[in-house]
Amino acid sequence: MNAGTPTLLGIGFDSCSSYLRGAGAAPPMIREALGCSASNHWTETGVDLGGDGAYEDAGELAFDDQDAFSGIQAGVAKILEPGARPVVLGGDHSITYPVIKAFAQKYEDLTIFHFDAHPDLYDEFEGNRLSHACPFARIMEARLVKRLVQVGIRTMNRHQREQAHRFGVEVVEMRALPAYDRLKAAGPVYISFDMDVLDPAFAPGVSHRESGGMSVREVIAHLHAIRGEIVGADIVEYNPVQDLAGMTATVTTKILKEILGKMIVG
Ligand code: MN
Ligand code: MN
Repeated sequence: MNAGTPTLLGIGFDSCSSYLRGAGAAPPMIREALGCSASNHWTETGVDLGGDGAYEDAGELAFDDQDAFSGIQAGVAKILEPGARPVVLGGDHSITYPVIKAFAQKYEDLTIFHFDAHPDLYDEFEGNRLSHACPFARIMEARLVKRLVQVGIRTMNRHQREQAHRFGVEVVEMRALPAYDRLKAAGPVYISFDMDVLDPAFAPGVSHRESGGMSVREVIAHLHAIRGEIVGADIVEYNPVQDLAGMTATVTTKILKEILGKMIVG
């Protein structure tokens, strides 16, 4: 791995999903859609992802179910160590907590731009503090990052609003979009992208379909508006079991391509 090279890492973990399993099967389907000859390898920002060394692929992470989170943290740390930039393919959103634990060892002033229908700020959900409804509560209470900016939120409730206030989370609700100028960071940036930020009309293949979400075009416009050095990303919660004719795999891949393009072109 060369320094700075975006490096894919599949993490097929969905044991902390509260409602439906299935996201664990996503990484190979995303890779298959990425290699599909229905589309070329260029991003809209003019980057040829088919060019030699544009990005690398570290394959699927093997982890022990009993100790999955420490395995995930170690797997991401291994990519960060030589200076590469991990791009994690989930899996449910619970994986972002161990992923960010690894990033926090290297970066003390990280900003997360978090795209999601849900704030994922529950202190615990159905008795599970590691649920995919909780990762950003764990990240913020451990002070692993400097800033958390959430975009596309449309399921805020009293408890999570209190949590957002307690942790100083910058919440940009769906009804406030567009919000291009909120996506600027002085230090290193991590993108955490939950596929359910999209309207289910564009991305039905998710566990929690929440209407009134972003279009693919709105997502791309917001990704392109990011200002800051992107040092890593995840794309989570694509659930192939819920998909229709693979259309959400195609959308996931489109977003992955534009994130990789932004990482390369800046
Ligand atoms: Mn989420
Ligand atoms: Mn979500």
